[in-house]
Amino acid sequence: MARRKKIYEGKAKTLYEGPEPGTIVQYFKDDATAFNAEKKDVIEGKGVLNNLLSEYFMKGLGQIGVPTHFLKRLNMREQLVRSCEIIPLEVIVRNYAAGSMSKRLGIDEGTQLPRPIVEYCYKDDALGDPLVTEEHIAAFGWASQQDMDDILSLALRVNDFMSGVMLAVGIQLVDFKIEIGRVYDGDFQRLVVADEISPDSCRLWDIETGQKLDKDVFRRDLGSLTDAYSEVARRLGVMPNNPPAPSKPTLVN
Ligand code: C5P
Repeated sequence: MARRKKIYEGKAKTLYEGPEPGTIVQYFKDDATAFNAEKKDVIEGKGVLNNLLSEYFMKGLGQIGVPTHFLKRLNMREQLVRSCEIIPLEVIVRNYAAGSMSKRLGIDEGTQLPRPIVEYCYKDDALGDPLVTEEHIAAFGWASQQDMDDILSLALRVNDFMSGVMLAVGIQLVDFKIEIGRVYDGDFQRLVVADEISPDSCRLWDIETGQKLDKDVFRRDLGSLTDAYSEVARRLGVMPNNPPAPSKPTLVN
């Protein structure tokens, strides 16, 4: 059997050429990094959980008409996605102050924001993904004005969807990051939600206790990251060892 071609290896995922043109296999690794890879570890099982959780969110987005790159999950660690040109921006949506916003603006973590705030960072590890404005994005040609209108609308729809899904299982969506890809259909291009949506890229707090169920557990040494992610997966009913209930009674001789 021919060895498949590796296209890119990132911090948490490896991308391989897919079985058909225009497709990519996205492999979820167990590697965890924080602070621009200054802190690193291997967290057994994280890749499996993120693969299942990202599938769950991307499928749900597709069901409400938000376009994503997701095609299908292949196995416990891999999913097939549409290949797209990633716009070099990290799109962050915040509902409550936390993390870098709290630091930058001196707002206590957990303070509810008057409305969702969308921020853009330029995707460049060497620069530490600096915050940029729409002026930079337009001037340097990273995205057009039409792209920016579409990106804002996608980001807010993802926020509404994710907030609702999380609220239903007693979790507050504090903030999250998404990446946007450009796909071409003949002469037309459209934007889709790409990369992954998982507790690696969201802040998720238990509504009752405030317990953190996201990558801050790793960043801030707050306990077991797999326990936190498993709790999110368990509440959403996507735990790997949680087989669906049989639809019909089973006859036993
Ligand atoms: O660090 P900061 O507060 O700016 O992060 C905001 C949100 O974006 C958090 O949910 C964080 O997990 C996510 N993020 C990410 N990848 C980055 C930077 C931030 O997923 N490179």
